[in-house]
Amino acid sequence: MLTSNHYPYDVLVAGGGNAALCAAITARRAGARVIVLESATRDFRGGNSRHTRDIRYMHRAASEFVTDAYGEEEFWQDLRGVTGGATNERLARLVIRESETLGDWMPANGVRWQKPLRGTLHLTRSNLFMLGGGKAMMNAYYDTAAKLGVEIHYDSEVQELKVRDGEFISAVALRDGSARAMGAKAIVVAAGGFEANIPWLKEYWGEAAENFIIRGTKNNQGVLLRELLKHGAKPEGDPRGCHAVALDARAPKFDGGIVTRLDSVPFGIVVNKMVKRFYDEGEDFWPKRYAIWGKLIAEQPGQIAYSIVDANALPRFMPSVFPPVAAGSIAELATAMEIDPQALVAVVEEFNRSARVGRFDPGSLDDCHTEGLTPPKSHWAKAIDTPPYYGYPLRPGITFTYLGVAVDELARVIMQNDRPAKNIFAAGEVMAGNILGQGYLAGFGLTIGSVFGRIAGREAARHGCA
Ligand SMILES: Cc1cc2nc3c(=O)[nH]c(=O)nc-3n(C[C@H](O)[C@H](O)[C@H](O)COP(=O)(O)OP(=O)(O)OC[C@H]3O[C@@H](n4cnc5c(N)ncnc54)[C@H](O)[C@@H]3O)c2cc1C
Repeated sequence: MLTSNHYPYDVLVAGGGNAALCAAITARRAGARVIVLESATRDFRGGNSRHTRDIRYMHRAASEFVTDAYGEEEFWQDLRGVTGGATNERLARLVIRESETLGDWMPANGVRWQKPLRGTLHLTRSNLFMLGGGKAMMNAYYDTAAKLGVEIHYDSEVQELKVRDGEFISAVALRDGSARAMGAKAIVVAAGGFEANIPWLKEYWGEAAENFIIRGTKNNQGVLLRELLKHGAKPEGDPRGCHAVALDARAPKFDGGIVTRLDSVPFGIVVNKMVKRFYDEGEDFWPKRYAIWGKLIAEQPGQIAYSIVDANALPRFMPSVFPPVAAGSIAELATAMEIDPQALVAVVEEFNRSARVGRFDPGSLDDCHTEGLTPPKSHWAKAIDTPPYYGYPLRPGITFTYLGVAVDELARVIMQNDRPAKNIFAAGEVMAGNILGQGYLAGFGLTIGSVFGRIAGREAARHGCA
């Protein structure tokens, strides 16, 4: 039943992750009456933001929490490199410059930093790590928002937007089992991407999408992205584009977070279910390559692959959350993993024969490579010959999707006539495609959401309080 219920709000924030809370806090501090509608329950609030660990930001010097400076030009060049130019430079530089204030703004709103740690991703110079990770960050933001007087409703999915001539009128939200229309003078849409919507993914990936594992919240169904597009917002970003990594196939379908990623690939070989290698496992350093493996696996039959390593390799990568399949011989390992034992023995023997002896060094692009093997393994190619042998089943793990809506530097949603909507603002993953058209820069998802969340909150409040 639809009960019309016009609440006295200046700004309605749809979504409950980093971008939403940055918007809500900023709008409230600017004097607006703010309501947040989060589709998750309280326990699962915070979207994919609660799975994060670190944020990239521009800074001019080392501090207690970062090891050296990271300036605008270097930041921009890094972004240009990973996107291959698929970025809007004006918006990208805005995010980079505005990120400089996040180092202080986030702690002022409850976030605490952690001293730099040694890790696999080499981010201690460019990125700040949140103490307690994204979960603690989101708890801090919710706490701050509540203390400021932001009204927060959980279990409140916004299902429909009423928009007339590019002007937001009201949002229809499912709350306590009934649909309610909620009016506000402005809306900030910060409801993430559509990566958890398997039928939508299937439109671009076909049946293969059934076998994708979604690393984050099941609530990111793209309902509001679809609504904005339906009302004439200009799309931005490749609909098929998604950030996808190699994940342990035993991970839960949704919300496994960071721990189900597997980093074993460069230290062994990877075969598909036909027991064929299909890509160079040692092409480049893992932090530069881990995000291509999701797509590679998505293209294999049944969207499954198997990472095979031996006892020498096991200590070289981050321990897995699920124990590897272990066996005393390659044939036994194959049997345990339900792939053809003879074929796996043959693949491993061929690989071992082609691996040239060199100086093995996981810290450099070393000279341990294969010769006469297709596809080659360019680095870290060491014979797999020391039992016990270990295997991990791998699936594509989708982190987020790239399709979003176009925005301008005031976070206003751009309509198909290239004019900004009057009172509709967007922040976070729903507009990140403007800046990150492809590829990924670790810690940059939060940067975009934080900067655009603050802009959207500020501008929505300006509109809402006028
Ligand atoms: C495992 C993992 C690790 C990551 N690690 C990092 C990292 O360390 N650093 C980094 O920068 N990025 C990281 N990312 C990417 C990062 O999570 C995103 O870029 C960022 O969190 C996006 O923020 P957001 O607010 O746009 O979306 P989200 O945080 O996903 O929030 C979307 C919110 O909208 C709500 N919602 C959805 N639909 C509706 C609706 N119809 N009505 C109401 N509410 C709705 C959801 O419940 C959710 O609360 C990681 C992602 C994953 C999955």
